Amino acid sequence: MSRHPGGASFLQLGAGRDCTALFESYHALAPGGVPNAILAKYRVDRPAVVAKLTQYKWAANDPFYTDLKHSVRAYLQANKISYKASATRWFWFFLAMVVQLIPLYWYIQGYWSSLIILPLFLWVFSVNYFHDASHFALSHRPWVNALVMYLFPYFESPTTWLHQHVVGHHAYTNSDDLDPDVMDRFKSRKKVWRYSPFFWPLFTFMGCFVFDAIFFFVTLKYKKKVPMAHWVRTTMRYTAHVLGRIVLFYCMFCLPYKWWPFWKAVAFSVIPVGLYGTCFGLFTQLSHMTPETYGNRKANETSWAAHQVLTTQNIATGSFLSFVLSGALNLQIEHHLFPTMCSEHFPRIVPIVKDCCRRHNIPYQESPNYWVGFCRHRELLQICTEGGFWGDEGAL
Ligand SMILES: [Zn+2]
Repeated sequence: MSRHPGGASFLQLGAGRDCTALFESYHALAPGGVPNAILAKYRVDRPAVVAKLTQYKWAANDPFYTDLKHSVRAYLQANKISYKASATRWFWFFLAMVVQLIPLYWYIQGYWSSLIILPLFLWVFSVNYFHDASHFALSHRPWVNALVMYLFPYFESPTTWLHQHVVGHHAYTNSDDLDPDVMDRFKSRKKVWRYSPFFWPLFTFMGCFVFDAIFFFVTLKYKKKVPMAHWVRTTMRYTAHVLGRIVLFYCMFCLPYKWWPFWKAVAFSVIPVGLYGTCFGLFTQLSHMTPETYGNRKANETSWAAHQVLTTQNIATGSFLSFVLSGALNLQIEHHLFPTMCSEHFPRIVPIVKDCCRRHNIPYQESPNYWVGFCRHRELLQICTEGGFWGDEGAL
């Protein structure tokens, strides 16, 4: 396992579960045929014990995915572009890493303006770097990606993020039963979900403490569906995870009460966390949750790549501001097709992906801006809470 270029822990993350989607998408830009040849070398012929987590019937030759991978690889080779982070990207990383200390200093000094500036800055920094690192997209060196993820775990604990997002969400996008971002929420038809944007401020708190700290380690499965990888079950991993939660909780919800009077402390512990969670909700929830993208959740079982395009929308594709503020999550289609590509390269491959979709008659879905994206999201919430997708069957 130590010879795996992506590191041993990623192999361990896939152990015991169907990881076809992970294998295919994480080697999509590798030299043609090489990963498959290596895989064949290590083939073990014995009945597999696989966690029940599968959805696709993989076609032996998927014309759309083959064409897409070939076109993007050819573009990268012709232009001599490495699909990991460039020197310029690293320059911005180190600059932002140092500059984030300024709003942090203002926060510690008790400046009221820091309540807005600090969470916005931390959001932009983490969505641009933590997210790429969690997909092993920053560097070919596994330890570099791991270091960035563990140094700046503002989204969620790296342990649960890998299960929830990298395995659950990316491999099984929009599946009612398998994608932790969706499951049960809409199918339940509970009226409360119509108002889910009002819960966005709670996202960080729920992600960092509730799902992380309690349920995942009680059930050994993220949201009872994505089984915990074996590598988590070591004393060191448990300790790192629990200590991380305690330190984060102490900094966010205890220190302000030591430093300032009660009401000021309430504002300083609630507003930044809520604003960060709202950014998370705005830039993540609209990409897959529209009537069209959710309606396509069962549309294509034989092409994983087509499924990714059909269940995803881009928002404000050409906007530089949206690109920076969302950490390229506005180009969600390209991210889902090529998760190991550093997000800085997505704008260059948009025309290639669009052309390929056109050639294979797969609709490339876009909203012109975040307001339109938000309205489509609200339409979905309304349809779902009225049971529009299921008729009389399927209510939980
Ligand atoms: Zn992602």
